[in-house]
Amino acid sequence: MSWHVLGAGSLGGLWAARLARAGVPVKLILRDQASLTRYRAAGGLTLVEDGQANLHPIAAETPNHGAPIRRLLVACKAYDAEEATAALAPRLAPGAEIILLQNGLGSQEAVAARLPRARCVFASSTEGAFREGDFRVVYAGRGHTWLGVQGERRTPEWLDDLHTAAIPHQWTHDILAKLWRKLALNCAINPLTVLHDCRNGGLRDWPQEVAGLCTELAELLRQAGQPDAAEDLHAEVLRVIDGTAANYSSMYQDVAQGRRTEIAYLLGHACTQAERLQLKLPHLDDLLQRLREHLTARGLPVT
Ligand code: NAP
Repeated sequence: MSWHVLGAGSLGGLWAARLARAGVPVKLILRDQASLTRYRAAGGLTLVEDGQANLHPIAAETPNHGAPIRRLLVACKAYDAEEATAALAPRLAPGAEIILLQNGLGSQEAVAARLPRARCVFASSTEGAFREGDFRVVYAGRGHTWLGVQGERRTPEWLDDLHTAAIPHQWTHDILAKLWRKLALNCAINPLTVLHDCRNGGLRDWPQEVAGLCTELAELLRQAGQPDAAEDLHAEVLRVIDGTAANYSSMYQDVAQGRRTEIAYLLGHACTQAERLQLKLPHLDDLLQRLREHLTARGLPVT
């Protein structure tokens, strides 16, 4: 059975190239005909790994042409996922499975609500990749991808394809805990690096601010029914700050390059959920307010 990968960007390219080179059938779904023409001119997708570039002539198509889709990997940004996936609704076979790679929370539920007959698998990945050019992806950081349907312990047979393709992964019956934990780590680090214009390690100069956010985030996680994700959050945030001290956060890089951020699905989602739970979290609210002002001043969307 063929995989369809929606979005030939960083993670989509990384997944598609590894599946294709392992002999697993895979097709890319590109945005439109113009994109498909550019892709064909490039001769395929190039993956750069350990300094070595390899071209993978993976089949590609546009959203409204092609065979029925049974297994779809959605690799768009969170803000594009719902519309991009819904556009494929006429092509989804009964019982189709959709694997959602988006960071943060909110986009997965939006996709699932638009496509109630599909089975949505959520994913949380610590792998790192970036686009060096059109259809040229650099595998920048080894990591791991957690996959799961909340509460479901039975693993799908397609995990074998990930084994074959050497994509490091693990199934979890508590994927929401993984996604919430990653969201909380992101909220405690990324917006502050943008506001203080620093690498992750620069946050060592703001210990009180980091500690205040962690207290509120842990409270939010507990009230949102994720007590495990709240465990030792502050200690892990400090470990991440130390372990990635020389790095610029993904949100920092997005803002520096004038790219739209996924704020609505990260800090924005945290604040929306706090409001829904009638929690007063002044540090988080203040952070969101300051981040929105910062983005607006640079002409970037705040949603
Ligand atoms: P990306 O490099 O920007 O790639 C997104 C791709 O989606 C682009 O190729 C874009 O096409 C495509 N796309 C958007 N709308 C589309 C549509 N309607 N039809 C077809 N294609 C469409 O993003 P990314 O870095 O891979 O991130 C994807 C998700 O993974 C994000 O939620 C991110 O937070 C998460 N994530 C990324 C990494 C990483 O290292 N990159 C790690 C962990 C998690 P265009 O080029 O035409 O715009």
